[in-house]
Amino acid sequence: MKHICPVCGYDELQQAPYDADGNESFEICHCCAFEFGFDDIHEGHTFESYRNKWMSAGATWFYEQSKPEVWELNQQLKNIERIQPMYIPFWKKRSTPKWIEAGKILASNSTDKVPCPECGYHFLTVQDVPIMFAHKIERIISCPSCFAIKIILLPYNS
Ligand SMILES: [Zn+2]
Ligand SMILES: [Zn+2]
Repeated sequence: MKHICPVCGYDELQQAPYDADGNESFEICHCCAFEFGFDDIHEGHTFESYRNKWMSAGATWFYEQSKPEVWELNQQLKNIERIQPMYIPFWKKRSTPKWIEAGKILASNSTDKVPCPECGYHFLTVQDVPIMFAHKIERIISCPSCFAIKIILLPYNS
């Protein structure tokens, strides 16, 4: 089974970008060059901000040989709509189960007060970024105290 890139909608990823335990695939998307679990999110990118950067740089293919003969970016971006809710923990591995728990709480109710699983000093804050063309939101969960961050991809109307 192939998987969809949450950045560009490329639907030929060999592995799920993140498994149920939040482990990253470290696969590099042939289209937008996003690497799951490596430097892109660590460098402060979200899918949305990386996508914007990639598109404003001309939306070029990382691995040109994988580009279909007939290719329509807007059509490909619509694939993102088919992605199931995705939990993306990345900060420190040891607290991943706590992050998944916190993510599930905040996925269903973004106003719940959930202490930061990383430092415990502060409640997590939630920011929603709509991805209008795909009817999704990126829910960015972060800690104002230690700057831990986690992203959840959710249906727009959840
Ligand atoms: Zn991609
Ligand atoms: Zn914290």
